[in-house]
Amino acid sequence: MNIEKIVDSVLAGCVISREEALTLLNVENKSTDFYKILSVANRLTRQNFNNKAYIFAQIGINAEPCTKNCKFCSMGKDHYSMESKWRKDYKTVSQEVDKLIEANIDDLFLMTTADYPIDDFLAIAEKVKKKLPPTIKFVANIGDFDVNIALKLKQVGFTGVYHIHRLKEGIDTDIEPETRIKTLDAIVTAGLDLYYCVEPIGPEHSYQELMDEMMRARDYHVKVMAVMRRIPVPGTPLHDKGQITALELAKIAAVTRIVSLPSRAMNAHEVTPLTLLGGVNQLYAEVGANPRDNNSNTEKNRGVSVSAIKKLLSDVEYDI
Ligand code: SF4
Repeated sequence: MNIEKIVDSVLAGCVISREEALTLLNVENKSTDFYKILSVANRLTRQNFNNKAYIFAQIGINAEPCTKNCKFCSMGKDHYSMESKWRKDYKTVSQEVDKLIEANIDDLFLMTTADYPIDDFLAIAEKVKKKLPPTIKFVANIGDFDVNIALKLKQVGFTGVYHIHRLKEGIDTDIEPETRIKTLDAIVTAGLDLYYCVEPIGPEHSYQELMDEMMRARDYHVKVMAVMRRIPVPGTPLHDKGQITALELAKIAAVTRIVSLPSRAMNAHEVTPLTLLGGVNQLYAEVGANPRDNNSNTEKNRGVSVSAIKKLLSDVEYDI
């Protein structure tokens, strides 16, 4: 299949087929066609999003062993590899939220492990929401739930939820794939924005598997899309499988942007400057617990600050 033809049809506004998208993913990194793919994704983002970039921030509000045992996560209970265990009280979360509001973020995410009590989470979230200016979108990143909980999330002021069917869900995690899909449907039924991601991408995942998640995002008409490469966290079962390169991530991000057609923003995680050349216009700052880090205060280790993100986005001439 001819890359030039696919690229032209993307630029003409056509929705590309699975077969065409797989052709793009199979393009050799470092080839001329590789840069054509980045260029098209870049053009779509710059034009369709008016050159606007976004800064999101996530606070991980607990660091505790999680029964879902994801083989890539530093908080899986059978291989817990963070240096400490804790839950943040509202006061601590509130102070962190104040700093992020001050830093002028666009969206605020609160994250917990899957076992965190939902009523405690809702109580903290309700108070946080009262502090947030209406311009900041409020997003939950928690375990699975039904429509009733989705409606409660909406009631306390969340505008969206980050939730995904992970790569090798049910194999690398102790969660049934159907459970994840039911939660995705509950989010949409409740009228919350679904934030989606192809993750956590490792060298062993096939392009077919990645494509399944890109297509799922397109079917859900997501506004905000992302890709994330797996970080080989010491102590986690998938550590020895290693990591894909930044070049590979950039290609996957560009193809994901082209295929899934988000209407607001495209992200690649963790922060990888190269991806900003290929249609990525949104980055995450992180505070607190993070499944990709051994340090339970990720802002002291892997987490990137809002100021660093601002610099990266403005360096590639996005408007923030
Ligand atoms: S990724 Fe989430 S669900 Fe999986 S073990 Fe970690 S905290 Fe639990």
